[in-house]
Amino acid sequence: PDVPVGSILAGAARRYGDRVAFRHAGEELTFSQVWEQACRFATALGRHGLERGDVVALHLPNCPAFPVAYYGTLLAGATFSPVNPLLPPRALADQLADCGARVVVTHGRVAESLRDIDVDLVVTVSPRETDALDFDRFVAEAPPTRPEVEIDPRTDLAHLGYTGGTTGRSKGVRLTHRNVVVNALQYACWGSGGVPSLDDSGDVTVIQIGDDAEWPSRLGTGATLNLTPWFHAMGLGGLNIGVLSGTSVTIHDRFDPRAYVADAERLGVTTLSGAPALYAALVKCEDFHTADLSSVRALSSGAAPMPTVLGEALLARFPDAVLSEGYGLTEATMGVTANPSWRSGTRKVGTVGVPLFDTEVRIVAVDGDPERDTLPPNTPGEVCVRGPQVMQGYHNRPEETAAVLDHGWLRTGDIGMLDDDGFLSIVDRKKDVLLYKGYNVYPRELEELLLALPDVASAAVVGRPVTEVGELPVAFVVPSPRADDVTAESILTAVNAQVPPYKRLREVHFVDAIPVSGAGKVLKRQLRERLR
Ligand code: ATP
Repeated sequence: PDVPVGSILAGAARRYGDRVAFRHAGEELTFSQVWEQACRFATALGRHGLERGDVVALHLPNCPAFPVAYYGTLLAGATFSPVNPLLPPRALADQLADCGARVVVTHGRVAESLRDIDVDLVVTVSPRETDALDFDRFVAEAPPTRPEVEIDPRTDLAHLGYTGGTTGRSKGVRLTHRNVVVNALQYACWGSGGVPSLDDSGDVTVIQIGDDAEWPSRLGTGATLNLTPWFHAMGLGGLNIGVLSGTSVTIHDRFDPRAYVADAERLGVTTLSGAPALYAALVKCEDFHTADLSSVRALSSGAAPMPTVLGEALLARFPDAVLSEGYGLTEATMGVTANPSWRSGTRKVGTVGVPLFDTEVRIVAVDGDPERDTLPPNTPGEVCVRGPQVMQGYHNRPEETAAVLDHGWLRTGDIGMLDDDGFLSIVDRKKDVLLYKGYNVYPRELEELLLALPDVASAAVVGRPVTEVGELPVAFVVPSPRADDVTAESILTAVNAQVPPYKRLREVHFVDAIPVSGAGKVLKRQLRERLR
């Protein structure tokens, strides 16, 4: 896998040339058009003085210009830094300063707010803005040749991406071309029974090591709908996997379950993918149950835990498809584990599967040494990961890097356990675990019990700090539309009958919605603030 990320697109352009790569709001780009435009973008960057290792920030929602600028940046030997397009101006300025961007690609509409920010070049995708360079012109005026830049995939930074900011301040994560290529290969060929490799021209070779392929081959035939933001690790990983496997991607700007289902039927999509929040909304949409979605062969989920009841509802809806849940984090490029499939005999409900190819997972006593303090199976501890997708470190944060990287091991900040067969379960985030009279209480366990109640549509549990005892579990609950006579007491009784006294839920608050981040993760910080 020691090839630059640009080779992924080079290979796709050769193999899938005229196939639609991206479709959005009436616009379509084939794989060869993306390649041609990315080469032009890369050449244009060079003409404007951009050098190997310089940072290009992309402050855009998902749209066809995004992959053009992404691959173009990498083909130019520069480092790509995605920015959440919804960041308020202050946070945007902070992130651009933190990553040291020389070029920003953004929307004309926000270019004005970048006036005081110290960057060399602003390129805007429509609507146009007079001072900045127009993206289409910027691309069209350069020749479509791949620039001759030397890239060392082992050391040159491809991504300077930011963590989701679910638990605190977002941190910049340094990933090489090798990190990115490896992780795309690890997932693209997952379940195919083979080990993939990629050469410089973008040719993929799969060395078959077993005949137990259960994941349907998606190479060159897949179609999917995209909602996962590409500025986030999971979305960006998905972008590379889609290009590597020649999948046609139709971008949806907003999540409208009925429009989503209608497009899935019309386009005959083969793969659905997203965070559990997306699937939870789909199963509540009537059209989802009546539309002809027989083309769907695979469903993938990640970024947050898939509640068991939801996974089972999806399996019932798609009796012939596989459902695979993965676990990952920005610090591991995107992914660490995947489940063979919820349907196969090897899938274990409630787990996130087994480590990806070439990846090790250890469960270590919290703050312990990953080499010495490993815990026995079925014992919760901190999930530590070693593998070719693990980051080089945080950007400009040596102390935080030293706290999480230890002799090649990444401390994930997640509490999990491995079972006797090596399947990983994520118990909770270290920062979300509650301590009550010396006992660990895992909110996720209570959330699973809540979600299994017919009266509960969605739920999240956080702690209320109480002097001397620690934290008491408090639930925020969205009642299901059919729940007429649900009360806080009925919920407390149902959940507390199933747990030992120290884990008992103490309060239930009914809310209209549980706050989630752009990446589909529950924002517990906001719930804790509400409690205060
Ligand atoms: P920050 O570190 O800035 O607070 P973040 O944790 O949201 O943000 P990301 O890299 O976006 O950063 O998310 C990674 C986290 O998402 C993991 O550490 C884990 O807690 C959670 N996660 C991802 N996939 C799963 C999954 N399948 N099951 C449970 N949790 C998951």
